[in-house]
Amino acid sequence: MKIRIIFFCLLLGIAQLTMAQHFRAGAAMRIITPDPLLSVSGGIGTPKKSIQKNGELSIRALVLEKGNVRVAIVNVDNLGWPAALGNKSRALIKGIPPENILIGATHTHSGPDAYGFPNEKGESFADLKYLDDCVKKIAEAVNEAVGKLEDASLKIAVGEAKGKIAYNYYADQLYDPRCGVIQAIATSGAKKGSAIATLVNYAIHPEVIGASRGILSPDLCGPLYDRIESQGGGVAVFMNGAQGGMVTADNRVEGGKEANDWNECRRIGELLADEALRIVKDAPVQENPALFCTARKIEFPVDSEIMRYILQKSPIKNEMAGENRIATQLNLLNIGTAQVLTIPGEALPNIGFYVKRYMNTKQPFLFGLTNDAFGYMLTKVDFNSFKRYEYVSRTSLGEMTGEIYMEQALKLVNDSPKP
Ligand SMILES: [Zn+2]
Repeated sequence: MKIRIIFFCLLLGIAQLTMAQHFRAGAAMRIITPDPLLSVSGGIGTPKKSIQKNGELSIRALVLEKGNVRVAIVNVDNLGWPAALGNKSRALIKGIPPENILIGATHTHSGPDAYGFPNEKGESFADLKYLDDCVKKIAEAVNEAVGKLEDASLKIAVGEAKGKIAYNYYADQLYDPRCGVIQAIATSGAKKGSAIATLVNYAIHPEVIGASRGILSPDLCGPLYDRIESQGGGVAVFMNGAQGGMVTADNRVEGGKEANDWNECRRIGELLADEALRIVKDAPVQENPALFCTARKIEFPVDSEIMRYILQKSPIKNEMAGENRIATQLNLLNIGTAQVLTIPGEALPNIGFYVKRYMNTKQPFLFGLTNDAFGYMLTKVDFNSFKRYEYVSRTSLGEMTGEIYMEQALKLVNDSPKP
């Protein structure tokens, strides 16, 4: 009898082990549009009072699990999301190690201030209560996604997004047209065969509406989410890419003018969604894919006066790594055949091309403005070079930011297993 019980327990154990070894995915979202509306912040200076909203601001969480590895990928509709806020959410999330939680900002230019930008007098107008509410909702969404984890397969593809979506405002052609897509599909239960979530990775500035019009909006990301969800893509997640200096939405119209309304957000967001779904449609199904996650702390010197001023005066308590140094989390993920690297800011597109070229995959993903958003990241030769680069040089941490990032990112690639 005793032996039979032990044998039974052993079988149960094996069954649980194989079950836990199966790849699982879950997703959830929360609306974070402030009510009443808050002012819109596009950076340093006094924010612009909002008089209306176009669409809803949201946060979106995708949780992936294989064996004892669990990872959360979260996007927030905001200009940037400092680690000081992200870490508060990490502390509220159960069952996922903090270093396995990636939080990226979509970089909409029509959201409330999350940096606590000081004005010339050192005053900040950030609504800390709103930010705290967002912190809780991020944790809630991730915890809900954990609760919804179910057996899943993946479809992954990287392809060129065609049509009038992005361009480089400084030099038309200098941008990366590749769009990476990861779609998680339920493999059992009532929703078998349907998408749990679709993650879109593409480099673009969502600033069709911009920060000066008094409109709160997720910009083109809102229509992108809605389109993917209406087409059966499950919860839509958008992770930006290497969109610095100055890869932006192609809202150019005749006569040197720009379309800057919600209709244009819809045109671009829906087109990008359709392209993402086209790119992933015929991708081979990856049954029970592998999952790997690693993280490393990296440090940057803060050479820029403006960046020092923001970091010191902000009511968001940024964790410094010594005098005029800042630390952040760099992540590498292997998801099935894809590899993901995070970027803690707005890397210029040439940095994106370089890093992708040396990643150990034919499906490289770069999650820009993720875990932190420290302004622009240029190579040392680009820094303070063209007159065009004056602004992006001034709003970067310093001359070596891009160099340190590339070195550390590729070191992490070399130190990690291949997908
Ligand atoms: Zn930007």
